[in-house]
This record gives sequence, C-alpha cells and structure tokens, in this order.
Amino acid sequence: MDLLFYDGIDWEREFAPFRTHCEECRGLCCTLLYFAKCEGFPADKSSGVPCHHQKPDGRCGIFQELASRRLYGCLAYDCFGAGQRLAARTEVITNWEAVPQPRRELLFRAFLDLAQICQSQWYLTLASLLRPARGLLPQINALRERGQKAETLSAEELACFDIIPYRKDVSHLLGQVWEQVEPLLCKPARRQPILKSYAGKKMRGKDLAGKNFSTADLSRADLRGANLYGANFLGADLRETDLRGVDLSHGLFLTQFQVNSALGDADTKLPPYLLRPPFASAGAWGPPFPVKKQPRF
Ligand code: SF4
Ligand code: SF4
Repeated sequence: MDLLFYDGIDWEREFAPFRTHCEECRGLCCTLLYFAKCEGFPADKSSGVPCHHQKPDGRCGIFQELASRRLYGCLAYDCFGAGQRLAARTEVITNWEAVPQPRRELLFRAFLDLAQICQSQWYLTLASLLRPARGLLPQINALRERGQKAETLSAEELACFDIIPYRKDVSHLLGQVWEQVEPLLCKPARRQPILKSYAGKKMRGKDLAGKNFSTADLSRADLRGANLYGANFLGADLRETDLRGVDLSHGLFLTQFQVNSALGDADTKLPPYLLRPPFASAGAWGPPFPVKKQPRF
C-alpha cells in the first residue's frame, strides 16, 4: 500500500481540467502578461501588449522554434488551464491596439485571478488524493466547490473577485494537510525550520524525505541522487534546479511550471500528476538561464 496516495487513482482524469490547451486559447498569456527578455521571453514588454511574435489569431508565430531560440520562459509557462477558460467566455480580439486600455486591464486582472483559482484547484486536487489527509476531506471538498464556482465567473466578475481570502483559506488548509503528512515521513528531531534559500546548494545524495521546501528558493540547487520521497515543493522556486536522475514520483505539490523550469533527463521520475515537458529532447530538458518566477503561493 502506498503511504501517500490512494490506490487506483486515475491521475489523468483528476488533473485534466488544469492542463493547458493553448490551441483553444488565443495566446492570452502572450498578450496579457508582462515579461522580460532576461527571464527567457523574446523581449521586455508590458501587460496588455501582444508579443511581437503573435499572429493575428493570437497564436505564436515561432512556436516550433521556441527551444532553438532558447525562449525557456515561453516554454516553461503554465496557466493551469486559465487561458482556455477565459478565452471561451470573452470576445475574440484580433486587433489589440483597438482595445481600450481599461478593457485590457480588466482582462489582465481576470486572467491573473483565474490562473490563481486554477492553481489553487490544482493543489486542492492533489490534497484530496493524499491518504494521510483523509480527515480533512470535507474541508478540501468545500474549498474545491468554492473554487469551481469562482472558475465560472465572467471576465467582469473575475476582475472584481477578491482572490485574497480564497487564497488565504487554501493556503491555511494546505498547511493543515502538510501537518498530517509530515509526521509520517520525518521524525520531529529531523524537522528543521524552513531555510528559505537553498539557491545553488549542493544537496546531492542527501536524505530529504518529508522535507518541507514550501516557498523555498531551490534555484540552481543540485538535488541529484537525493531522497525526495514526500518532500513538499509547494511554491518553491525550481528554476534551473538540477533534477537529473531524481526520483520525484512521490514529490508533493509540484506544478508543471516548476518542473518545466528545472533541469531533467530521461532518468528523472516525475510524479504521476505531471507530464514530461513537451519540449524535452531525448527525455532531457533544461533552460540555460533563469525563467520567470512562478507566482508565490
Ligand atoms: S514567443 Fe511565442 S510563446 Fe513566447 S510570448 Fe511570444 S507569442 Fe508567446
Ligand atoms: S494562456 Fe494558457 S492556454 Fe493560453 S496560450 Fe498561454 S499557456 Fe496556453
């Protein structure tokens, strides 16, 4: 019996609602978000301004070349399915220059809120599948229902949605979930206060089972050969973290964005709720320079 996950989980069905379907979106992230060249995007740009590589239908004109152009910010970004959801309930925009500034700002706020709601739903879905958290299932399901209602709001309603109390409640509950998991994996004597920065740290071969890395900076850290069974990666920064050959099959609260922005290879074992980055070549992937930070949770 698996200590962490229930048996017989249909992982793809559970997480399918939060996979991105860029073909159903009109490149909303490429227009609505601001980004910087130094973070692996093609140029510095403000929010509400289309990327200069976007075609009139919003799609990326250089999609096949993103890896060869080393645009790892573009490759790593993941909206948890917010893009296709918002695109389905907003007008088709082919000329952003004609869109008044207030409308652009509204869509930007709506997109950010929806992405955070979907991210929260991602975490809550994983929490609901954790055996040690079964006593918290009613609270987890209640918050999932609240998120599901918020997901259906119009762009106008989303832009006014007060995301802070919702995120606070999710964050509090995820903390309670972790309190159920941690004692099973890590004896009190081994529990150390969360060291927020492990940036560049060599942790090769260490026993980090049940380690709480939530919101920690693990960028460029070397985790090769480490035991990461049940380690908590909630909101951790994994940009350029060396995960080559690492077994993450029981890593908790990881996201596609985190894994996309790390370094991995054909021997990296991902948790069953994540996909191998689509831009991996011969099973290996890894940006040569930092990509945009995932929003902190
Ligand atoms: S290069 Fe392509 S994927 Fe990257 S921001 Fe521009 S349009 Fe989007
Ligand atoms: S907003 Fe999401 S679905 Fe749309 S293009 Fe960006 S990543 Fe893809």
